[in-house]
Amino acid sequence: MNISFLGTGLMGQPLATRLLQAGHSVTVWNRSIQKTRELAAAGAEVTDNPAQAIAAGKVVFTMLSDAAALREVLLHESARGQLQGRSIIQMATIGPQQSRELAADLHALGAEYLEAPVLGSIPEARNGTLLIMAGGPEALYQRMDALLQVLGTPRRVGEIGQAAALKLALNQLIAGLTSSFALSLGFVREQGVPVDNFMDILRQSALYAPTFDKKLQRMLDRDYSNPNFPTRHLLKDVRLFLEESATLPLDPAALDGMRGILERSISQGLADGDYSALYDAVHREDKDRD
Ligand code: NAP
Repeated sequence: MNISFLGTGLMGQPLATRLLQAGHSVTVWNRSIQKTRELAAAGAEVTDNPAQAIAAGKVVFTMLSDAAALREVLLHESARGQLQGRSIIQMATIGPQQSRELAADLHALGAEYLEAPVLGSIPEARNGTLLIMAGGPEALYQRMDALLQVLGTPRRVGEIGQAAALKLALNQLIAGLTSSFALSLGFVREQGVPVDNFMDILRQSALYAPTFDKKLQRMLDRDYSNPNFPTRHLLKDVRLFLEESATLPLDPAALDGMRGILERSISQGLADGDYSALYDAVHREDKDRD
């Protein structure tokens, strides 16, 4: 099948690679063209023009940063005329309301829209084990199911907006678990409790989550290089959750605290670092203390 892929960043690159490996003809576009080089070597067509990329595929995958980028690319004057008859599969994490608004604008231009945000990161994108949450019409989902199976395990969650909401609910947990773990880790270290004792007991308890061990070494080393999921994207998702929950009978005060922590990590220059960089905001290094 002729497929287009817009956005070959950390996640887009391995996803487009899997589609190629599955035998599809894939045309890729990325704002910074150097990030398409490996895909070109693997057999993808590369274009420097998003409208041309949209025209090249019946199905258009998008893995851009956020809703603003999606609107800028898909609804650009030059792209609008290419959308008729296209099926857009949108895989980034955006808000439910943003997703519904984008869908309405795309429908008005003759395109179909399926939101398909994912849980999992670069390793899961590489080996096709992402958990894919789809929101949109059942018939469209059924037609796209085989393609989504190439990328992971898809499940239709409901209508447009509902998969986006579920994804935000899960990322709220990422922020909560990670910042809570960072605080306990910083506390035991400050109290002189051996980290091995802390981890041994935690691992045997009902409180344990596998993400703790995935992030432990990075936090101990304060090494946030080669991120799978950058801090700036987690802050985006926390802000989206806060915006969405503002009109609901929920009290997101704890998450608002995490927003502050992530903002501090970013002001420390860690926007592009792994999100475990929030440890630096939670547990200050000696040199940062008053
Ligand atoms: P990324 O590496 O930062 O890639 C973002 C992509 O969006 C790049 O291709 C970037 O182009 C493009 N972009 C940003 N602003 C743009 C604009 N104004 N116009 C055109 N293109 C623009 O991020 P990622 O990790 O792949 O994440 C992509 C999405 O998936 C995000 O919504 C993220 O929250 C979500 N997600 C990420 C993970 C993960 O583990 N990384 C997991 C699940 C979901 P340039 O290369 O030119 O900057």
